[in-house]
Amino acid sequence: MEQNNNLTGWVEVISGCMFSGKTEELIRRLRRAQIAKQGVKIFKPALDNRYSASKIVSHSEQSLGSTVVESAEEIFELSKDSQVIGIDEGQFFKGDLVSVCSKLANLGKRVIVTGLDQDYRGIPFEPIPQLLAIAEYITKTLAICVVCGNPASRTQRNTNQKERIVVGAKDLYEARCRKCHTIISD
Ligand code: ZN
Repeated sequence: MEQNNNLTGWVEVISGCMFSGKTEELIRRLRRAQIAKQGVKIFKPALDNRYSASKIVSHSEQSLGSTVVESAEEIFELSKDSQVIGIDEGQFFKGDLVSVCSKLANLGKRVIVTGLDQDYRGIPFEPIPQLLAIAEYITKTLAICVVCGNPASRTQRNTNQKERIVVGAKDLYEARCRKCHTIISD
């Protein structure tokens, strides 16, 4: 295992609602690391197959090649030779994502994770709150409310489905501010 004994690792979290540019920001940071010839590895959960099986793609269609994994433990196994690790859609991993990110940072790696901080009801979306607690750097991204134009921190789901996870994009979800956010019920 390649270990970095000189530099300290750390965890960066980019979190916010949908359409706030989380993946775009992740791609921006990872591209800079690639330009600096750092070993970069990018992961996304198997659940998120909205755009591409082997790339992370932002809503504005920027993309970077990525590895699809079933679990956070798999990320740890596959990251041993990398300096910089990007993880998209962190809310789709289980709670062990937090310990995996910690372990990678302890090995001297830079770990950058994106994730929804709230679900469609505005409730904190595990394991992102726990990840925010252990991260060195936090970026909260805001979108623009489609109703009133104010800064939007919440994701409105325009369906009466009750499951916490319903994967979809522009047709199903909207960014809303706290004043305009509503929960659709039947
Ligand atoms: Zn609004």
